[in-house]
Amino acid sequence: MSRAPSLFVSHGSPMFALEPGLLGPNLQRVGERLAGLSAIVVVSPHWQTHGVRVSAATSLETIHDFGGFPAPLYALQYPARGEPRLASQIVDRLKTAGFDAVLDPGRGLDHGAWVPLRYLKPAADVPVLQVSLPHSIQTTDALRLGEALKPLREGGVLIVGSGSLTHNLYEFRQHIDDPEYAQVFADWIADAVARGDVDALVHYRERAPHAARAHPTEEHYLPLLVALGASDASEPRRLVEGGMTYGVLSMDSFGFGLPADALAEAA
Ligand code: ZN
Repeated sequence: MSRAPSLFVSHGSPMFALEPGLLGPNLQRVGERLAGLSAIVVVSPHWQTHGVRVSAATSLETIHDFGGFPAPLYALQYPARGEPRLASQIVDRLKTAGFDAVLDPGRGLDHGAWVPLRYLKPAADVPVLQVSLPHSIQTTDALRLGEALKPLREGGVLIVGSGSLTHNLYEFRQHIDDPEYAQVFADWIADAVARGDVDALVHYRERAPHAARAHPTEEHYLPLLVALGASDASEPRRLVEGGMTYGVLSMDSFGFGLPADALAEAA
């Protein structure tokens, strides 16, 4: 593969690992079309730090960073290797872009990374790196973080922003009288992505319907801006359908620069 795509993947709840739903098989199809990736770089809201940290370990622990879920979830592993040399290059690239970036020699993979990767690349045979999400990051900085990572795609590095298209965990597994708001928000975002309306996506909190309810906090939305920042306006943008889980968690995902046949069977 020459140029790898950029993806926004909704990981929803950790239960996604055990409940593939609509998105699991769709991610698997996408992964099968991505031959020859040199590495995968994941930005997940489950690694928030002061400044930006880049995982630089060779052997990556599968981190089960959640509580109160069924036992089989804690037995799952994703034994991908890291890529320390690429980690150093990424730190240099981020510093050049003005980020306060350092290597993290001990970090493994959180569930925002390994849960979707088990569908995308089940063989775990592509090196994986995580880039942390700075605590104080704004939407414009998340976009810039993606822009700084974009050139890596030329070398076959898949960029994955892992979040959730809607993420109100107070409403997760509760009875909600008006769950349809989540789909209204998800549809508004999908339309803005399809139109390539970066300005609307950056200012979604003021413009999108039900934005603050769909994302009481922003960390699961920001990875969409990372994936978007790593894309070009001219390349194809595709919805990777994920449907709605638990009434209010939209699993819809987006591919930027995916090969034309990546969603052929899902269409
Ligand atoms: Zn999450």
